[in-house]
Amino acid sequence: MNKEIIIRYSEITLKGKNRMGFTNLLFSNIKRALKHKGLEASVKKGYDKIYIKPENNIDSYIEPLQKVVGISWFSIIEKVEMTKEALSESLNSFIKELNNEKTFRVSAKAVNKELFESSNLLTNFVANHILENTNLKVNLNNYDVDVTVHITAEKEILVYSKKHQGIIGLPAGSNGKGLSLLSGGIDSPVAAYKTITRGINVSFVTFLNNVTGNPEVISKIRKLAEKINSYNGKPQYLYLVNFTRIQKKITELENTSYRITLLRRYYFRFAELLAEKFGYDMFITGDSLGQVASQTIQSMEVISEVTNKIIVRPLISSSKNEIINEAIQINTLDSSNLPGSDMCAMFVPKKPIIFPTQEEVDSLESELKDMEETLQLVLEEDMRAIKLGENNE
Ligand code: ATP
Ligand code: MG
Repeated sequence: MNKEIIIRYSEITLKGKNRMGFTNLLFSNIKRALKHKGLEASVKKGYDKIYIKPENNIDSYIEPLQKVVGISWFSIIEKVEMTKEALSESLNSFIKELNNEKTFRVSAKAVNKELFESSNLLTNFVANHILENTNLKVNLNNYDVDVTVHITAEKEILVYSKKHQGIIGLPAGSNGKGLSLLSGGIDSPVAAYKTITRGINVSFVTFLNNVTGNPEVISKIRKLAEKINSYNGKPQYLYLVNFTRIQKKITELENTSYRITLLRRYYFRFAELLAEKFGYDMFITGDSLGQVASQTIQSMEVISEVTNKIIVRPLISSSKNEIINEAIQINTLDSSNLPGSDMCAMFVPKKPIIFPTQEEVDSLESELKDMEETLQLVLEEDMRAIKLGENNE
């Protein structure tokens, strides 16, 4: 049997003049995703579709394609010879694969009219064949299967029925590079994923210390980063930072209620160093308004004041339930729920400030010494960069 995969783009088609650039990127993201899984294929561009001719087992292409952003749907199609017998045979093999489906509709189009004079005649032929050989009933609106038959200008019959949903969005890499502040929690992986679907390739930075930087937490963070990285257009990096030097200095301050505020400000100052060094255009966090003390407007304002870069907070208006549902969909919830916290209990104040002021922050930071040098030292000595997607998936 002559099987291929047909891919329909999503939003790219709205992009007018930029369309070529977007489709080229989607095209190369698809090729890279397949190659990464060791799958050989010839990939061809059509006007609004991409065709894949697989060289390995066709079913093994489904999972990697479901992770490429910018695909609206794809189907495994059968290419059938231009005869009614061959078409009937193909419909028979489709019938054999039916399970509990009760209703169907036919979507048929005959561009070349040699075999059928009109699309209607083709529709009738297909529908009658199915009605005569199965118990399925026609239902145009509420159907279990949509049997699609397309006779092309090149005199080929394409038959397919099942559509696999892709990830709608812009091809990863079409809008630049971002750095996700990744904790071991539920929110930040979801936020990173959502940003990838808007065309950003996302790397990750996680701040740990001598206590939290244990193998259990590190393995959890790596798992999360790998899972999200699999949606990137190309493999990105995870930076594991031992932030003990900075945390220690903050701990020495008498005022404990500002600890988290100050720590977050140093997270972003460090992220700026990474952005400068490796060229990130934006930062991403899992903040959701009002969820915890550091997520009030005042808190976020005081924290983001340290950077001129855009801080993207895709979950700002999401409820915890919505975030959990998304985490289930992208399969990160289980990893986020593994034991191991990125924040050590000793450091977290009993009463974190909910409405921090700029004046108090400035005054506290003026008590801290050699912070710039220390950040630089952390960058040089206390950070490990891991290239994702290399040995485990
Ligand atoms: P999450 O579920 O992502 O941990 P959260 O609701 O627990 O979020 P916070 O712990 O206040 O909220 O963190 C807010 C955001 O700050 C996180 O979503 C993440 O982007 C960033 N962040 C927090 N802790 C760390 C860390 N140790 N390393 C890197 N980023 C962090
Ligand atoms: Mg957290």
